[in-house]
Amino acid sequence: MSTQRREAGRALIVGAGIAGLSTALRLHRGGWEVLVVEKAPSSRSGGTWISFRGVGYQAAERMGILPRLVEAQLPWEDIHMLDTNGRLRAVWPAATQLALMNEPTLHVPRGEIESILLDALDGEVKIEYGTTVSSITQDDSVAEVVLSNGVRERFDLVIGADGVNSVVRQLVFGPEAEFRTDFGDLLAIYNVERNPVDTGVEHLLSGVGRMLAVSRLGDSFSVLFLWESTDLRGDLATDVFTSVRRRFEDLGWAVPALLREVETASSAYYGPVSQIKMDTWSQGRVVLVGDAAWCTGFYAGYGASLAVGGADLLGDVLERHPGDITAALRAWEAEFRPIALSIQAQARRGRKSFFLPPSEFAITLRMIFLRIAGNAVTTRLLRLFMGVRSPK
Ligand SMILES: Cc1cc2nc3c(=O)[nH]c(=O)nc-3n(C[C@H](O)[C@H](O)[C@H](O)COP(=O)(O)OP(=O)(O)OC[C@H]3O[C@@H](n4cnc5c(N)ncnc54)[C@H](O)[C@@H]3O)c2cc1C
Repeated sequence: MSTQRREAGRALIVGAGIAGLSTALRLHRGGWEVLVVEKAPSSRSGGTWISFRGVGYQAAERMGILPRLVEAQLPWEDIHMLDTNGRLRAVWPAATQLALMNEPTLHVPRGEIESILLDALDGEVKIEYGTTVSSITQDDSVAEVVLSNGVRERFDLVIGADGVNSVVRQLVFGPEAEFRTDFGDLLAIYNVERNPVDTGVEHLLSGVGRMLAVSRLGDSFSVLFLWESTDLRGDLATDVFTSVRRRFEDLGWAVPALLREVETASSAYYGPVSQIKMDTWSQGRVVLVGDAAWCTGFYAGYGASLAVGGADLLGDVLERHPGDITAALRAWEAEFRPIALSIQAQARRGRKSFFLPPSEFAITLRMIFLRIAGNAVTTRLLRLFMGVRSPK
C-alpha cells in the first residue's frame, strides 16, 4: 500500500461489505489514508433486494451516490401472498408497499449497492481480498495490527465492518456470545437464473414458522427461505441445502421446482437471524460499524441503510473533531445509537407481525390487513401492526 500518509491519519477497515465500503468512501474523502481488508477472495455480490431508505438514503445523497442507486432501482412488483398450498390469499400492491415505507425508498439489489460503492471508490482505496486481521493491540497513540498475510501495520483508527460475526469485535471487545441474541431463525438466500414461477410478480409463501419469497432481480432471481429452527446448532452444522430441504420439502406449489433450482446453486447468504447489542461500539482507536456493531436482524429491512448512514456520520464526526478520535467516536455514538436501537426494536416487532406469524390465525390476520391496506388510514394501521418506524 502507499506509504504516503494523508493528512487526517491512517485507517484500517476490516470487511468490504456495505458498511466497510461506505466507510472507506467517506473517510477517503475526509483525507484519510485507508486500507480495506476483506476475508472473501472477491466482492460478494449476492443477496436479494433491499429497501434502501431513511438515514442511508440521506447519506447516499450527501455522498453523491444516490443517482447511481436510483438508476439501479428495480421496479416495485405486486406481492402475491400464498398459503402453504400455494393458494393466493392476498395481493399486496406495489403502491401500498411503498406507502408503508412512509419515506423515500429505493428497491435495489444488495449487490448493486456494493458495486456502486466500489465504483465510487474508483480504485483510490486499496482493498486486499483474501485477508483478515490476526491481532490488534493499541495504546494512546496508535493501534498495531497483524494481518493474516503476516504484515504488521500501524493505524490511527481501526474499523471493524466485518458483519455480525465480527472478528474485530472478538479480538477487542470479547466473545461473540456476550453480544449476540439469536431469534432462533435461519435465513438462506440463493440467486438463480431461472424462476419456475416467473409471472411478473413477487411470491411470498407463508406457513407457521416458515416463509419463502421469490423475487426478480433484473435478469436473475432471488429465492429466500426463512424458518424457525428447532435445532439451530444442528441445522448450522448441516449443509445449507439439506437444512432448507428438510424444512420445505413437504410443500406443494412450485416448491419442489424451486428446491431443484437452488440445489445446484451456492447460497449467497446463510445464517441465523441475530441482533448484536453492545454497551459501546468503540474502545480507544477501534470502532465497529454496520452489523458488527448493531446488527438489527433481517426483519427491519434496514441493515444496508443503517450501514451507509452510520458510515457517513462517522466520517462527519471525525471531520468535526480533527485529531481527537475519542471525542469523535463519543459524538458519533451519542447521535447514532438511538437510531440503531429503534430499528432493532422495529425488527423484533416485524418478526412476528409480518415475517413469521406464530399461528394460522396470525397469518390470516396479516392477509386481511394487507387486503384492506391502501388508503391513508389502513396504511397507517398496517404500519403500526408491522412496527414500521416513521422517519424523523
Ligand atoms: C453475501 C451477502 C448477502 C446478503 N444478503 C442480504 C439480503 O439479501 N438481505 C438482507 O437484508 N441482508 C443481506 N445481507 C446482510 C446485509 O448486507 C447487511 O445486514 C447490511 O448491508 C450491513 O452490512 P455490513 O457491511 O455491516 O455487513 P455484511 O454485509 O455482513 O458485510 C461484512 C463483510 O465483512 C467481511 N468479513 C467478515 N468477516 C471478516 C473478517 N474476519 N475479515 C475480513 N472481512 C470479513 C464479509 O465477507 C463481508 O464482506 C447480506 C450480506 C452478505 C455478506
